[in-house]
Order: sequence, then structure tokens, then C-alpha cells
Amino acid sequence: MTINYNKWSAMPEQERMNIFNRSELVISDVMDTVSQIIDNVKSNGDKALYEYNRDFDGVKPEKYNLRVSAEEFEEAESSLSADVKEAIDFSIANVLKFHKSQIPEGMNMIEIRKGVFAGEKAIAIESAGLYVPRGRGSFPSMLYMQAIPAIAAGVRRICIVTPPDEMGKVDPGCLYAARKCGVSEVYKTGGAQAIAALAYGTESIKPVVKITGPGSKYVSAAKRLLSGIVDPGLPAGPSDSAVLADASADPYKAALDLMTEAEHGSDSSAILVTDSESLARKCMAYLDTLAAKLPPQRKKFVEDVFAGFGGIILVDSIEEGARVVNIYAPEHLQIVTEDPWDTVQLIENAGEILLGDNTPFSNANYSIGANAVLPTGGKAKTWSALSARDFIKYSSIVYSTAKGYRDLEKHVKVLADYEGFAAHGNALKLRNDNV
Ligand code: NAD
Repeated sequence: MTINYNKWSAMPEQERMNIFNRSELVISDVMDTVSQIIDNVKSNGDKALYEYNRDFDGVKPEKYNLRVSAEEFEEAESSLSADVKEAIDFSIANVLKFHKSQIPEGMNMIEIRKGVFAGEKAIAIESAGLYVPRGRGSFPSMLYMQAIPAIAAGVRRICIVTPPDEMGKVDPGCLYAARKCGVSEVYKTGGAQAIAALAYGTESIKPVVKITGPGSKYVSAAKRLLSGIVDPGLPAGPSDSAVLADASADPYKAALDLMTEAEHGSDSSAILVTDSESLARKCMAYLDTLAAKLPPQRKKFVEDVFAGFGGIILVDSIEEGARVVNIYAPEHLQIVTEDPWDTVQLIENAGEILLGDNTPFSNANYSIGANAVLPTGGKAKTWSALSARDFIKYSSIVYSTAKGYRDLEKHVKVLADYEGFAAHGNALKLRNDNV
């Protein structure tokens, strides 16, 4: 298997840019196609959604409802093994515990000066559309990672969109997870068309005010194009990860963990950043043998990633490695150094940071409790993991007593005159005049 291998100080600029820009490159390629899909959904509503289900997801039945029925929820639940249900229940409990801790309590009013009070009131957004991908995998985990924070925040209407399979059915694990979270509004539509339906509405799907969820390049492009119509939430496109490791790390475990985000698709990225040449070489050999054991499609994705947007970067020190990680701004970062609690102090940009080799990406993606919907493509420079706060907005609340009013009045008149806003000034100067 070809694996990009570079020493950071000698790495050609073109290769640096390839890794740092990663999925951005593939999203910009599909903007025109996605724009046409959006126009079609806007003009033709459900009819366009049925056509795309047939053309992109290969749905065979001609007659079926876009909304999942109560019977389909029942069927899904009875088709799942007890193990899968228990694993979903276990993970939901952890995710709920984590996200409940993010809910602000009441209004936090403070006294700015005598008689002048200001604070914020937290209010849940009225509706949210959660995108649960299903192209190269099915993702019940992505469903509860979004539904739980929305529920914890108090969103009144939560609906889910997800691509159907060839029989026009939604993944049973997703339906079980939806029911466990208390969400019953689930629609069989995916890709850019699902995002357009959530933004504009169709005969079956009422529009929402915010969309969350990760997705392929089509989903990412649609969210970008519709950002003036609907809040598209944090940018969560093709997955990426970095392992920052020193000579103390186990190369076999590092290789195992690097494979997890790489197996998502050819457009993903996974990098090992290390100051140990020996670790780098051993890890490279393990990547090769581990890839050979994957099912053919996952093997192809992993090969594409390590020859494409991923690879191994050798640095002179962990400090230099941290600087590389901060530029790359991974969605998922694992630190496996002698003292990961020390190394973490050097990290400024990462969607999530996992410390030590007992905390692999897999556990965090499913069950630890922290959210696994994370900013991709370097967007962790300004964005955070999905949280209950994504479903809450804040209104400022202010109040003055008569004494507080008088204290402000003099200065506000001066500032209003300075800015030339006569009505602002008059609102104070003429306040006690009778007309
Ligand atoms: P997806 O549901 O995002 O995409 C599949 C849909 O794409 C299909 O339903 C179809 O409608 C549409 N599509 C397919 N071919 C098309 C074409 N030629 N033209 C227009 N539309 C087309 O599922 P996926 O493909 O598995 O992608 C999931 C993505 O989510 C991956 O890139 C993965 O890396 C990413 N992901 C990110 C996170 C995160 O937290 N950031 C988590 C999990 C997954």
C-alpha cells in the first residue's frame, strides 16, 4: 500500500496543502450539481425526493411514504439483536449524562452598576432537522449524538432525514435509536436533496430553522449553498483524524486507531504525527498488514486515504508536532505521548482530544458520552463539537431602575450626538416632555 511519508521540514508545499485543505477540495467539485438538486427540490418538492431516492439510492418500490410509519419502527425494533439494542441503550445513557451538564440554568442577571442589570435568557430553538448519513455505512450513533443534545436543550420539533436502502427502508438501528431518544418524525431522504427539503419544505416535510449532522460532499455542499435560508450548523463533512505520538506509543495500536477514520471513505484523512522515526516505520508496516485484512470496499478507502489526504509526518519534536496538528486542526485527535496531560497544553485546534492509548477513537465515536459530531476539514480552528448549546440561543435581558436610568442618560446623550443619531438622543432628551 502506498503511504504518504514526509519529514515536516522537507515536506513540499503542495503536499502540505493537499493534507491541510483535504475535503475542501472535493466539496467545491460538486457545487454545480448540488445547486441543481436544490432548485429541483424547491420547485418539485416530494416528487424530486422520490426521484433522487430512485436514482441515487437505488430505491426499487414505486409506492411508499417518505415518512417512516409506526409499523416500520416496530419492525425495526424486532429485527435487531438484544446486543445491539443494549449497546445503543448504554451509549445513549452516557451521551445524555454528558449533554445534560451543558444546559444553562435560568437567567444569569448581573448588576452592571447600581440599578442597571443585564444578563441572558437561554431559549431552545423551535425546530431542528438532523441529518443521519447512510451511504458508505449506517450510523445509529450519529442519530443519538444529535438527538440527545437537541432533546436536552428542549427543542420542540426534532425531525430526522436519512437515505433509504433499496427497499425504501431506514436502517433499523437508526429507528431503534430514534425511538429510544423519543423522536418519531423520520424521513427517507438523503444527500443534498434532504438538506434542501429541510430548508424549503416539501409536501411531506415542514422546514426547520436549523440543520445538524455530518454527511458526504453533497450534504456539505448543500449546507453551504443554503446557509442564507437555514442555519446549517457546524461544518461536518468527510471525517479526519490525527494521532500525535512519541516513541512511548505502541505502533500497532497507533495503526489500528489511524484506520478508523480512514475507513469512512476515499475523501477522508488520517495522519500520524510523530518525532520517532522508529514508530513511524513500524506503524507504516502495521497499516499495510491491517489494510489487507479489511473487506474490499473499506480496504480501498483506506488505501486511497493514506495515498491521498492522509499519511505520516515526521517532526523534530512533539512541540513541532503540536504546531503541525494545530494547522491541520483535526476533527479527532489522539495524543499518545509519555505525558498526554502535558502535551494537551500545546493543542489549540482539534474537535476532540483523546488522551492516552486506552482512549481510542472508536470508544469516543460511539459510547464515551462526548459528542462525535465534530468540525472537519480544518474547521476546528473556529468550531466546536456539537453540543446542547448548538440548539440553544440566548436573548439578552436588561433592566434599569430610575436611578440606573439617570446614571446612563448623560453618557448616552453624548454618544448619540457624536454618532449623529438624533432620534436616539431625543429618546432621552425629550423623554419627560409632554407632546
Ligand atoms: P451520506 O448520507 O452523506 O451520502 C449519501 C447520499 O449522497 C445518498 O443518499 C445520495 O443521495 C447522495 N449521493 C450519492 N451519489 C450522488 C451523486 N452522484 N450525486 C448527488 N448525490 C449523490 O453518506 P456517506 O456517503 O456515507 O457519507 C457520510 C460522510 O459523513 C462521510 O464522508 C464520513 O466521513 C462523514 N462523517 C462525518 C462525521 C463527523 O462527525 N464529521 C461522522 C460520521 C461520518
